[in-house]
Amino acid sequence: MGEKKKKIIKTIKVNVDKCNGCRACEVACSAFHAAPKYSSNNPARSRIRVIREPLKDIYVPVYAGEYAKAECMGRDKYTIDGKEYEECAFCRASCPSRDIFKEPDSSLPLKCDMCEGEEEPLCVKWCLVDALTYEEREEEVEEEVKTEEMETGLESLVNKFGLDKILESVARMSISKKG
Ligand code: SF4
Ligand code: SF4
Repeated sequence: MGEKKKKIIKTIKVNVDKCNGCRACEVACSAFHAAPKYSSNNPARSRIRVIREPLKDIYVPVYAGEYAKAECMGRDKYTIDGKEYEECAFCRASCPSRDIFKEPDSSLPLKCDMCEGEEEPLCVKWCLVDALTYEEREEEVEEEVKTEEMETGLESLVNKFGLDKILESVARMSISKKG
């Protein structure tokens, strides 16, 4: 078992009932991530998108998650209050099957980075009706992630050079360290 270490878990809580679809979060996010900062805003570049159904007064903010190299094998279809939404409407992935969560000019994937370096995420700050709230908590996690990373690295080295060569190198390194 690995050693325990502290990790900060950041969470943005979304209260869909409070969201009024104003899209201030999209504007704030895209402006914060513009280069230079705040030089422009374009919701298409935002890492949060609000799925809107104004006729039913339903607005669902969705955050950009991981980049997916390939489309997934299945599809999601949600019905909320009698309205059927497009396939994958609430998915967080930046994936080849759609344009959402992609930089419009380059198509590079966009991912929410929790406004790294800021005290509070900008989308939370500018959501004036508190549909978005930010929380941080500390958790103890095993150091094992590092072990997994090391094993993945070792596996690729073994695949590239062969196990014998890797073992020889490790033996040589351990002799030189001891000496
Ligand atoms: S700023 Fe708040 S209320 Fe406005 S769309 Fe975003 S989450 Fe909804
Ligand atoms: S936390 Fe920051 S990066 Fe993430 S969606 Fe909100 S404003 Fe954009």
